[in-house]
Amino acid sequence: MTNRPEHYLLTPGPLTTSMRVKEAMLTDWGSWDEDFQALTRQMRAGVCKAAGVDDSYTCVPLQGSGTFAVEAAISTLVGRTGKLLVLINGAYGERIVKICTCAGIAYDTLTTPETQAASAEQVDEILHNDPNITHVAIVQCETSIGIMNKTEEIAQTVKAHNRRLIIDAMSAFGVIQLDPVKVPYDAIIASANKCLEGVPGAGFVVVKTDALKASKGNCPSLSLDLVDQWEYMEKTGQWRFTPPTHVISAFIQALDEYEAEGGAKARLARYTLNKDTLVAEMRAAGFQTLLPDEDLSPIIVTFLAPDEDAYEFKAFYQAVKERGFLIYPGKMTEVESFRIGCIGHFDHTIMREAVTAIQGGLRAIGVTNFSAGQLNSHAG
Ligand SMILES: *Cc1c(COP(=O)(O)O)cnc(C)c1O
Repeated sequence: MTNRPEHYLLTPGPLTTSMRVKEAMLTDWGSWDEDFQALTRQMRAGVCKAAGVDDSYTCVPLQGSGTFAVEAAISTLVGRTGKLLVLINGAYGERIVKICTCAGIAYDTLTTPETQAASAEQVDEILHNDPNITHVAIVQCETSIGIMNKTEEIAQTVKAHNRRLIIDAMSAFGVIQLDPVKVPYDAIIASANKCLEGVPGAGFVVVKTDALKASKGNCPSLSLDLVDQWEYMEKTGQWRFTPPTHVISAFIQALDEYEAEGGAKARLARYTLNKDTLVAEMRAAGFQTLLPDEDLSPIIVTFLAPDEDAYEFKAFYQAVKERGFLIYPGKMTEVESFRIGCIGHFDHTIMREAVTAIQGGLRAIGVTNFSAGQLNSHAG
């Protein structure tokens, strides 16, 4: 991993990209041009391959950040006629509820504490009692604190009730694989700028073609209508509205690098080593993780803020930035925390430097003891 960037993003998207991904954006493409249509086809095929789906699924790309793709999938597939059960244990589950509220989509919720995943039994009971629920939405890795939810078990329950599953796999897609045979889903949603290591500006939905076709006329939004986007793309090879041309070009390069690295298995191994290095070295320095080992994901790790008066996130952030790393604030409601992303174009040697930068940054603002004190957490 050469070509050291001016700083590393230890954030779960946008994240650190390779020099060649950045260089892939140095051409201007015509949106109608055959060369760009070929890039779009290549990107859609590459995403389907990364998802491991057969040809009963299709990839519908969409302009915008990941949320646009989540909103498009929910609005198109659940739409005016369905009812959605949303599993919530963090900000991204909450966001799906906001999407339903804005679009006037019927929904129910199953909320568990931030540090706890919903169980298949809980979902089973709700589906048993409410035959009006047509779809269930789950966030595979709740990036708010980095917890993995029980997508496989819950997918089986949803299937047993003959309902349909929509997965927000944004932060784990391409790394923590969900086999569509073992985890039956109608749609899985992600974006270019997370584990596939592209740049931000496009999301995508890998969706069962039958379910997509059956949703025609369902979406209350024009620009988020996935059926419309898909039909137009199939017919013309083009995107409905101005495509993020440079983003797609960079995404093709990112997908090539993903394949060259060895796909999901190799990337998961690299991110896991990033996470293991981070957690071991941070704990050795006295930090505590919010979650116990078995709940930690190789995507992002939440650490409890040191229990010293000198600690202040903004100053800490700035001091770490001066040392070459951008970190992420916590998204916990109850305790002060900060997050370190393990994903992006860097390896464990860089992560080791990051831990040094974090400690140096804290000492620079006058924090010397990195422990969070007696809070209920996991020091290992
Ligand atoms: C990043 C992310 C999203 C999308 O966020 P955007 O800021 O719209 O790109 C959605 N869900 C999860 C779980 C995410 O990690």
